[in-house]
Amino acid sequence: TTAVEGVPAKVRERHAELCQDLDDYSYRYYLGSPVISDAEYDALMAELRGIEDSYPELRTPDSPTQKVGAPISNEFAPVEHLERMQSLDNAFADEELAAWAHRVENEIAVDAYLCELKIDGLAVDLVYENGHLVRAATRGDGRVGDDITLNIRTIDAVPVRLDESVRPAPALLEVRGEVFLPGAAFEALNARLADDGKPPFANPRNAAAGSLRQKDPRVTATRPLSMLCHGVGALDGVRFARQSESYEMLRDWGLPISDRYRVVGSLEEVRGYIGYYAEHRHDPAYEIDGVVIKVDDVATQRRLGSTSRAPRWAIAYKYPPEEVTTRLVDIRVNV
Ligand code: NAD
Repeated sequence: TTAVEGVPAKVRERHAELCQDLDDYSYRYYLGSPVISDAEYDALMAELRGIEDSYPELRTPDSPTQKVGAPISNEFAPVEHLERMQSLDNAFADEELAAWAHRVENEIAVDAYLCELKIDGLAVDLVYENGHLVRAATRGDGRVGDDITLNIRTIDAVPVRLDESVRPAPALLEVRGEVFLPGAAFEALNARLADDGKPPFANPRNAAAGSLRQKDPRVTATRPLSMLCHGVGALDGVRFARQSESYEMLRDWGLPISDRYRVVGSLEEVRGYIGYYAEHRHDPAYEIDGVVIKVDDVATQRRLGSTSRAPRWAIAYKYPPEEVTTRLVDIRVNV
């Protein structure tokens, strides 16, 4: 605290205010009822980062710049993830992407990048023991999430038993992915809610979050949610050398994997992928808010490691928001 005393009072106050506001916004956002737009949230976060760049003594572990998600709600049983779930660092422009690649390649040679779509849904964690789905949880604060096992079991895309026709299931598999509501299903759901005189959801992400967080899984079952996997946590009984290899194994086990991911050999090709989907943003049945670029080689990922909130071996390239000012405050949001 003595170090913090050197920071001008005005800066300290603004910092405290931003921390408090961002924590509040996050809490509401992860419950499925945001009170400000993502662009506004990102702008406040950038302001907070700027302050902490100038006054690093303010960058404490409980700052929103250092944390993942938000604490869980107590509406569901808490579940401790086997391995921490993280967030992703962002690049909003080509220079930021190039700076990331430069940092990575300065440290270690990279032979391939995996490019995939950044699905605008909500992160979940599934645990399979000997091929059986035993638990599903939200990301929560990255360490502890909400137990949503019964709700996840209503999603057709999620196998309750792994398919062992190509290869046996491992003793333990913790798999991460994004749950989402396809655009057409979102429109249909909102029309149905309107017919019933109920408030609509502001966007497909909130609809997915609200649908998954139902106390009664029978309600979740009426919402055509889907899922795509994008990572593996704890693992026992199988190994893979590449992120892309893990995806092919997950696919063999019947887990949902996008066929839009690509493995490329250069930053130029990464740019090509980003450019392609900037033009074809609405081709997928779900909403995307960017592209995620990952170092494909797992040994290289391990060497690069992680910060407290995000891996150093991956980055999210975010597309500009399509609607900059959604007056979410004025929308009665269904939860
Ligand atoms: P994020 O959305 O920037 O990215 C990390 C997440 O992306 C991962 O946890 C994962 O679930 C997801 N993801 C989607 N596709 C993926 C893929 N192919 N590979 C890997 N991960 C993939 O991070 P976040 O920590 O969830 O949230 C921060 C963002 O959420 C902010 O930038 C802001 O836009 C938004 N937010 C908005 C509000 C608000 O009030 N509007 C509040 C909090 C956060």
